[in-house]
Amino acid sequence: MSADFIKKLFTTSAEFVAGAATIEQIPSLGNLPEFAFVGRSNVGKSSMINALVGRNGLVRVSVKPGCTRQLNFFKISEKFVLVDLPGYGFAKLPKSQMENWNSLIIKYLKGRRELKRIYMLVDPKVGLKESDLQVAKILDDSGISYRIVLTKIDKCSKEELAKTENFIKGQMDKHAAMYPELIATSIKLINTISEFRHEIITNIKL
Ligand code: GDP
Repeated sequence: MSADFIKKLFTTSAEFVAGAATIEQIPSLGNLPEFAFVGRSNVGKSSMINALVGRNGLVRVSVKPGCTRQLNFFKISEKFVLVDLPGYGFAKLPKSQMENWNSLIIKYLKGRRELKRIYMLVDPKVGLKESDLQVAKILDDSGISYRIVLTKIDKCSKEELAKTENFIKGQMDKHAAMYPELIATSIKLINTISEFRHEIITNIKL
């Protein structure tokens, strides 16, 4: 598959189909393969989904960290679905809301047969935090395949990037469902966006 073909697939049509704040609001979208994005608030998740689909305003880039509290479903070219899961790890969020995040997400993750893979976004400047590890544990325990995607690599030094990469590689053995390779991305480096699109597409039959 050529990079141009894959780009077209992502950018031809991207449609917001539903937002779900409760399990009942999670839409039924047939058998379309689904890919979900998780990460700490401010990791660059909204920006990344926008970059993948080549649309600046599809996912609102948060002004206030932690303000997206629902699962947002985007249908891409009628072929697959990208799901933006609520950001976590925002210090000011009350504990009860973190628990709420867990219960909704766990129900979604466990019950979603069409979910092909989760992408856990990590800012290498920030590194892997306790909240990332808590979510990783949920995914490991549920046996749901996830892959770490480093974000904003244009903003960090080679040393910072290598340090976080090495730390995460050292963690991989401890995480049964973690894909054993990282992806390093930046919305400012188009080749990394192409690479990420390619990774997503290889998980589905077109
Ligand atoms: P979210 O809370 O995870 O959805 O994060 P956002 O997408 O709102 O991004 C948080 C901030 O990081 C915003 O100011 C973005 O413009 C910035 N940002 C996101 N991705 C990148 C990137 O690849 N490079 C740089 N330099 N900034 C980025």
